[in-house]
Amino acid sequence: MLKPNVQEAINQQINRELFSSYLYLAMSAHFESQLLKGMAKWMRIQAKEERVHAMKFYDYVIDRGSTVAFYPIEAPTAAWDSPLAAFEQAYQHEQKVTGHIADLVNLAIKEKDHATLEMLQWFVKEQVEEEVNASEIVGKLKMIGEAPGMVLMIDHALGKRE
Ligand code: MG
Repeated sequence: MLKPNVQEAINQQINRELFSSYLYLAMSAHFESQLLKGMAKWMRIQAKEERVHAMKFYDYVIDRGSTVAFYPIEAPTAAWDSPLAAFEQAYQHEQKVTGHIADLVNLAIKEKDHATLEMLQWFVKEQVEEEVNASEIVGKLKMIGEAPGMVLMIDHALGKRE
């Protein structure tokens, strides 16, 4: 069984991962409305990945014989001024998530919870990847500015994500 404070912290993280999924799904819907189908697909896949993250924590809580808790999921923003604004928010959001994962690691260390510490290592690595993915797209969008032809080129490239 998890210590109550560790269980609570993981349950909060499940909620945050589900919020991440909701946020990226909102971005996907927004890009669909802008006919940026490639970006919409990229965000849709990202939303799915976040749900997988939530389920990894969910399964871990169950495997430890502990209790999963459900909290309201915050409503995400529904529209963005530009693709750059959306991807900048995604990048900032991932940096925030990285901070929460680090807090969880620190808690597991403090509580000498080695199994939780081990489980969290996957997320530590994953966050490095999440940040680099978002920041690369932000960098490219900054490079091209508002040029519509170039935006469509990036849209096409992002639509290749599997
Ligand atoms: Mg995540």
